[in-house]
Amino acid sequence: MGTQSDIKLIDENGLRLDGRSAGDLRPIRIEAGVLERADGSAMIEWGGNKIIVAVYGPREAYPKHNQDINRAIVKARYNMAAFSVDERKRPGPDRRSIEISKVLSEALSAAIMVEQFPRAQIDVFIEVLQADAGTRIAGLTASSVAIADAGIPMRDFVTGCTAGKVDGKVVLDLSKEEDNFGQADLPVAALPKSGKIVLMQMDGDLSVEEFETATSMIMNAIPRINEIQRNALSSRVKVEGGGGE
Ligand code: UDP
Repeated sequence: MGTQSDIKLIDENGLRLDGRSAGDLRPIRIEAGVLERADGSAMIEWGGNKIIVAVYGPREAYPKHNQDINRAIVKARYNMAAFSVDERKRPGPDRRSIEISKVLSEALSAAIMVEQFPRAQIDVFIEVLQADAGTRIAGLTASSVAIADAGIPMRDFVTGCTAGKVDGKVVLDLSKEEDNFGQADLPVAALPKSGKIVLMQMDGDLSVEEFETATSMIMNAIPRINEIQRNALSSRVKVEGGGGE
């Protein structure tokens, strides 16, 4: 959250800098099967975010002492390209990317049928090529499409969205300016069928009432985002089947 509270993010008509109303999402496009050499892959464009996900596995976990005899381990690695942000990012892992990798691994483990693959490892590489706020959620949403594209059995998709507080108002799907200069940022991901929450983080402060408004905005958006995930997979199946109905 930034400190420059003098920037006006919502106008007198209640519209945001990019013209959206409080409950609007940015445009989202997902394509499955974009990489030939991965077992599964997906590309997501969400607002100005551009993220590619490559999935490998399940394969034998290595080194062996990492193996779990009861289930597969899921290793997500979130990485931001040096050129993905305004101010060049130093290449390699940092505290933020290590934390994001950990929470995304846990969220994906809740959806994948890990118990079917003892001693195995599933690698999920999340490469942020262009960042525009909400990258962890966009990367996670694309990851579950890439995992399904790899044919790895899942209980459900993992579908996420953020909400936050901007100029004192609760809004859905924060843009970069809203993330930087707003008062709170709440990324949430859930399994859309059951509504079970698998990721929830918060930066900044929300009252109980604002928190409830923010979470219900997110839970309303999740079926819309899940439909985009499903469409990405079904058009992939059509292409593989020869491009026709
Ligand atoms: N960001 C940046 N440099 C960094 C990290 C983040 O410019 O080293 C920007 C980037 O656009 C990112 C946004 O700040 O999407 C918000 O970052 P945050 O840590 O809240 O994670 P995100 O919202 O992307 O999941």
